[in-house]
Amino acid sequence: MSSTSFTFSETVSLEFRGTGVDKGVGLGRAGEIVTPHGVIATPAFIPVGTKATVKSVLPESMKDLGAQAILANAYHLYLQPGPEIVDEAGGVGSFMNWSGPTFTDSGGFQVLSLGVGFKKVIAMDTETFRSDEVIAEGKDRLAHVDDDGVTFKSHLDGQMHRFTPEVSMQVQHQLGADIIFAFDECTTLHNTRSYQERSLERTRLWAKRCLVEHGRLTMERSHRPYQALFGVLQGAQYEDLRRKAAQDLSALDEDGISFDGFGLGGALNKAELGTIVGWMTEELPRNKPRHLLGIGEPDDLFTGVENGADTFDCVAPSRQARTSAVFTEDGRVNLTNARYARAFNPIDANCDCYTCANYTAAYVSHLFRAKEMSAATLATIHNERFIVRLVERMRQSIIDGNFFEFKEDFLGRFYSAKSPA
Ligand SMILES: [Zn+2]
Repeated sequence: MSSTSFTFSETVSLEFRGTGVDKGVGLGRAGEIVTPHGVIATPAFIPVGTKATVKSVLPESMKDLGAQAILANAYHLYLQPGPEIVDEAGGVGSFMNWSGPTFTDSGGFQVLSLGVGFKKVIAMDTETFRSDEVIAEGKDRLAHVDDDGVTFKSHLDGQMHRFTPEVSMQVQHQLGADIIFAFDECTTLHNTRSYQERSLERTRLWAKRCLVEHGRLTMERSHRPYQALFGVLQGAQYEDLRRKAAQDLSALDEDGISFDGFGLGGALNKAELGTIVGWMTEELPRNKPRHLLGIGEPDDLFTGVENGADTFDCVAPSRQARTSAVFTEDGRVNLTNARYARAFNPIDANCDCYTCANYTAAYVSHLFRAKEMSAATLATIHNERFIVRLVERMRQSIIDGNFFEFKEDFLGRFYSAKSPA
């Protein structure tokens, strides 16, 4: 099989180098994203440190387990401690003692999911109801969208705040991550087709405003390391809208400022995830990285990689770890299950993480039952390593030309009927 590599440096300050392409992985590719704080070998899973910390785990441990970058959340850091404090600390990486690359998301998803309370990936029949005023049961509407921005109520103290594309850029420049995202309207799959069309145009106009403000801030803050801006593609489950979003945002150029990469956003129906990601990546320039927002389940990661996504983030590995749910090659298991009381072996025999090297499943199981804080730490280290390593292995399999064999082996075992999860 031929191994074509490509190097692009069209983007002034963020470089994406592709290797291991044309290896028969469909749209999938292996590459490297060069940032001011280091190189990210892709595909890569980027662990989430929502409030500038991966809950219960120190940055030193995240580095040891192979995390190449950390993604923090602009909405949360805007509310607490406030972007000016993070700016004074020298940016989110310096603030949290993480020397590697960082991402922040725009806050759009958090702000808008306050409004409707829907999850990112849903596995349900969305044809059953569709309306523009639908709210998940038990949720108050805390956000209101208009053409200029979003007004929302803080989940911390109930105070009203307003995000616009300009505010999101200002906040993300103060937070100082290497890769930041344009402010977008994240719709749900329950909105009507006509609403999705109007929303997509709104997101396109917001993307233009983000580029203008990003250009201005980049000049004004030229003493700071360059921050790469990714445009976020919406369009729900509609092929024409997804392709249009990719074409529109890759064509945008505001006085020489264009997007350095792209976020593949929006609510995604699990069954159509690969198809939808493929529509977008087919339209996007090959020399720019694509980040699939909020995806972290093993099967979804394979689907994302083979359809051309380069990086991923998700809170699931750490969130699940804190509820004692851990990954093994035979599926997800719960450590509080009685059968782990005397499991004097690692959580996963083939895992190379710190927890599996030093502690037994029985001990971590005990810590969970005893409600000890170290339970969350040890389980999170394991889960984050499991997912980071899974995507590392996908990368290697692309380079080795055996991606689909690896996918079949891994998923066949992980989701087998024998799986105790
Ligand atoms: Zn482990």
